[in-house]
Amino acid sequence: MEAVRGVTGRKDRHKTKNNSAQAVYHKKVSEECIMAEKFHFYNSLTRKVDEFVPNEPGKVSMYTCGPTVYHYAHIGNIRTYIMQDALVKSLEYAGYDVKRVMNITDVGHLSSDADTGEDKMLAGAKREHKSVMEIAKFYTDAFFKDFEAVGNKKPDVIEPATNCIPEFIHMVEVLLEKGYAYQAGGNVYFDTSKLDDYYVFSSALEKEQLEIGVRDDVEEDTNKKNKTDFVLWFTKSKFEDQALKWDSPWGVGYPGWHIECSCISMKHLGDRLDIHCGGVDNIFPHHTNEIAQSEAFLGHPWCKYWFHVHHLVDKNGKMSKSSGEFLTVSVLQEKGYDPLAYRFFCLQSHYRKPLEFSYDVLESMTGAYEKLIKRISQLSKDGEVQQDKFDEYRQKFTEALTDDVNTSMAFTVLYDVLKADMNDATKRALADSFDEVLSLDLIKRADALSEETGEGVDEETEKYVAEKIEERKAAKKAKDFAKADAIRDELAAKGIILEDTREGVKWHKA
Ligand code: AMP
Ligand code: ZN
Repeated sequence: MEAVRGVTGRKDRHKTKNNSAQAVYHKKVSEECIMAEKFHFYNSLTRKVDEFVPNEPGKVSMYTCGPTVYHYAHIGNIRTYIMQDALVKSLEYAGYDVKRVMNITDVGHLSSDADTGEDKMLAGAKREHKSVMEIAKFYTDAFFKDFEAVGNKKPDVIEPATNCIPEFIHMVEVLLEKGYAYQAGGNVYFDTSKLDDYYVFSSALEKEQLEIGVRDDVEEDTNKKNKTDFVLWFTKSKFEDQALKWDSPWGVGYPGWHIECSCISMKHLGDRLDIHCGGVDNIFPHHTNEIAQSEAFLGHPWCKYWFHVHHLVDKNGKMSKSSGEFLTVSVLQEKGYDPLAYRFFCLQSHYRKPLEFSYDVLESMTGAYEKLIKRISQLSKDGEVQQDKFDEYRQKFTEALTDDVNTSMAFTVLYDVLKADMNDATKRALADSFDEVLSLDLIKRADALSEETGEGVDEETEKYVAEKIEERKAAKKAKDFAKADAIRDELAAKGIILEDTREGVKWHKA
């Protein structure tokens, strides 16, 4: 355990709360000195759950492969970013200070990850009769709209690839100088035969399978010395109308896809990275190539921990952006689903398992999320936070997250809190605290709900009012208006006001 800073994890922990009991509580914890917790998660590089030891105690440098902005991000892409957000916030909750950088791929990503096919950005521009830059701007904005709608925190640095062309050129120059790269047919390639171990993520069996896969790749680039070599810089583009091109020592051209993540990461996070994130499809060839070129460039190991999120699938298999038809968070919203209910759904399952999406499951998750909000809305705000209970359950919640980001176990702790023998103020304070990671607007929504339905309403009152509303409805239907009015008056005498609205009968406390 290492001392990090004098607050319980998050930098904004001692912000003032409206509730006086919580304000006192927060002042108290802010005066204590607490430690960064031990943290474990699955490292794709070692293929086991590792203890996380950052390069600098208490600080985390994290890089995330961002979207290719030729089209909307589908809800599968967004699952990956939700689970990465859970990792960032879990680390922060455990006391680490995280700096996170994300690239935006707006050039160089071809339709096949093996440098073949069409440039995705160019294809997008053609499809929509717009310029590549217009497409990039439009889909970057759309991406962050959905990214934030599901409660994700924006990375500290967001860098489009087209901002960093001089850095890419420099890296390619160094790789050529060091003998790790060669020119052929006008392009510059990375020579994978110069490495002792190219398939760093793979077991012996997986290596064999990957080699067969690479050999069988349909479209072959005859300039490559080895099948696994990859393009660092294109000059002999097969696309005559390649929209984005830059001058370089090897002629006018554009960068390969993989180079951007190595350069953007080093530009902002230095030459020893703690955590690199992506979806499982990024492992090969993208992350394999990133490691090859980064370590050849640096001359020492680059990134120690690789965090990969498994895919969201539907009943037909993997969701894919290029297949044309796919679901976005905005489409879910248009259909009446809450983006935070989608987040709730994703957090219920572990990031290392494929997750199957269906509307039925989303429907039932929406119900569970609403029930949770309702339960929290019934907690009274009065009373003092019980410090010992708070610490006990905060620790349990932290243990779930530091154990390979076990978000579903974190929910179990929250439900245990709601059932536990402790006062409402402590339950509310814990729900508020847990929401630093869950980001489900638990308190905000619970307060909005209790304002709508009457503050601090217990289940018994709620049941009673619901019955009376039904009785009144029946009386009205039977044209017994005197009875209907009597029920309204009976409730009013108890401080419960009914309102007839177009959406039905609503009620609140007087
Ligand atoms: P892209 O915009 O295609 O580069 O993808 C953005 C991120 O989404 C990458 O980290 C991918 O690994 C990830 N991703 C792609 N498809 C899926 C999927 N079906 N489920 C979860 N993540 C995905
Ligand atoms: Zn990347």
